[in-house]
Amino acid sequence: MDSGRRRFLGRCTAVMTGVAAPFALPRPALPESHAATDVGAGASTATDQRTGTGHERFMRLAVEQARRNPRWPFGAVIVHTRTGDVLGSGVNTGADSPLLHGEVVAMNDYVRRHGNQGWADTTLYTTGEPCSMCMSAMAWANLRRVVWASSIDEIRRTGVIQIALSAREVAAAARSFYTPELLLGGVLADHTDHLFQQAQRLRERHPEAPRAEVS
Ligand SMILES: [Zn+2]
Repeated sequence: MDSGRRRFLGRCTAVMTGVAAPFALPRPALPESHAATDVGAGASTATDQRTGTGHERFMRLAVEQARRNPRWPFGAVIVHTRTGDVLGSGVNTGADSPLLHGEVVAMNDYVRRHGNQGWADTTLYTTGEPCSMCMSAMAWANLRRVVWASSIDEIRRTGVIQIALSAREVAAAARSFYTPELLLGGVLADHTDHLFQQAQRLRERHPEAPRAEVS
């Protein structure tokens, strides 16, 4: 094997394991600051950046969902980007299935209500940065606008295991078929960071939660 091919294969392995992901997986070409101004009138305004009122309004709805599961407060809503109509919502129900993260529950709710179509017109708001499974699901759906509150790193600090790939890295790895319009983190993060810290204390105080606690 020549050295160039060895380097190539080594890089592929690094991508698959995530070891060198920040090097191997560049961020999407669209700058976040530009994308954040491109939200439809129903969901935001041209001045709406990390703390814009439009994004905050919808993130509060995601937080409402998250409060339904105090131990694992991962909530999500899907809204129509132009009209602001809420089209789907959900909270983590991981006790029922490892697949049922808040974003997936919201996507399933959307499909139930509207069919598997129209994703490109929607924006998903979630209390936690999407994990690699959920971000991949959004890429498969071509759901191109994603806003989250707490970062994966912050969530990990509250005792939640996390796969070490950021949402942006996953989106960039899907760039052959997926071009996100908006990947925005940190909206209401002060609020949701506190929520995840409360959840950690709750889990520590009551390691064996009654099954009914997960809604
Ligand atoms: Zn997830």
